[in-house]
Amino acid sequence: MLHKQTVKDINVTGKTVLVRTMLNVPIDDDGSVGDKKRLESAVPTLQYLLEQGAALVLMSHHSHEGQSLAVVAPVIAELLGCDVAFADDCLGEATTAKVQALRPGQVLMLENLRFHPEEEANDEAFAKQLASYGELYVNDDFTTCHREHASMVGVPKFLPAVAGLSVETEVNTITAALDNPKRPLIAVSGGAKISTKVPIISFLLQKVDALMIGGAMANTFLAAEGLQVGKSLIEDDEFEIARNVMDTAKANNKTVLLPVDVVVTSDIDAHQNVRVVATNEVGEDDIIVDIGPASVGQLKQIVDPKGTVIWNGPMGIAEDEVYDDGTLGVAQVIIESGAYSIVGGGDTADFIDGAGLADKFGFVSNGGGASLELMSGNTLPAIDVLLDKTS
Ligand code: ADP
Ligand code: MG
Repeated sequence: MLHKQTVKDINVTGKTVLVRTMLNVPIDDDGSVGDKKRLESAVPTLQYLLEQGAALVLMSHHSHEGQSLAVVAPVIAELLGCDVAFADDCLGEATTAKVQALRPGQVLMLENLRFHPEEEANDEAFAKQLASYGELYVNDDFTTCHREHASMVGVPKFLPAVAGLSVETEVNTITAALDNPKRPLIAVSGGAKISTKVPIISFLLQKVDALMIGGAMANTFLAAEGLQVGKSLIEDDEFEIARNVMDTAKANNKTVLLPVDVVVTSDIDAHQNVRVVATNEVGEDDIIVDIGPASVGQLKQIVDPKGTVIWNGPMGIAEDEVYDDGTLGVAQVIIESGAYSIVGGGDTADFIDGAGLADKFGFVSNGGGASLELMSGNTLPAIDVLLDKTS
């Protein structure tokens, strides 16, 4: 649960509200905004504040170096159904003048905060300047809540700071699934690096009834058990950790599913000699690139329509269509299970979006790194600094 005040807990009428929102969206080759999911998630907070009679100063980053947010302004304008003015620098006298001219119901968007290195450096003078634009601060960018940047943790030092509605939804949805889930709770974890996922796995193991491991991470688990994994991507300094996870699971009577079959190739890019083999039949020259159908079938055996599935990390090199069957299969099993499902992780969410399946899941987190932090049981620095709920 989010124990922080939100926009609904404070009086914003007639105030100028500085909103750290989520405008970091995919930009197509023609320079226009691609997928609008994040903007749609940003709208409820903005809409609410406008209905309450606030004036809004919107600020955000875009992660592509040099990408202007000017292309995002008309899209937000359309979603909100009102004009959105644009300031082509987040600093400067012209911007201050535009902020001062704002009236209730009006919206001004500032240029990409990361055009100034002070943003990522969490520079205090920069944060203070941003804070001068508003009387209240709202954090509604969940995707950046794990970052100690000026607009995330610096500005709240100078203004009363509360959470926006999409931050509230993200935090409450993810934490509720971990703390008070419909059982059985099954976690499916894949992706590339065991070293980055071990905190999640260790934390999830305490919470879940069963854990399925796929992706390159599974290779390390298989190798740690003494299986031949050929030339697969593994982290051989993590064998001990992999064995610990398995031992802990056994001691606590948790089911852990490792792949029983895998897709291998002898050349990833050239797609040479691609075939499904049992995990004990991987050859010296093979590279494991996906889990096989029997491994997907194991998940199908344990999913329960009354339960919950939390999924993070693709089951193979899913950005290559030749190696995406396992990830697609897992997606379909989760969808067809009827279980309540939560998906986190940037690459996983991208895959689901690309496959057109996003709306088939219970909740797809906008946040990659931030959702992983929450799923590891950690708090987020940009949420810690918001005002506590008063009971
Ligand atoms: P997420 O962003 O969803 O948390 P990760 O970043 O941990 O996921 O992992 C995604 C990456 O894992 C992808 O680039 C994918 O190619 C890689 N990956 C998954 N399985 C394998 C594998 N068997 N071999 C090499 N890379 C893999
Ligand atoms: Mg990733």
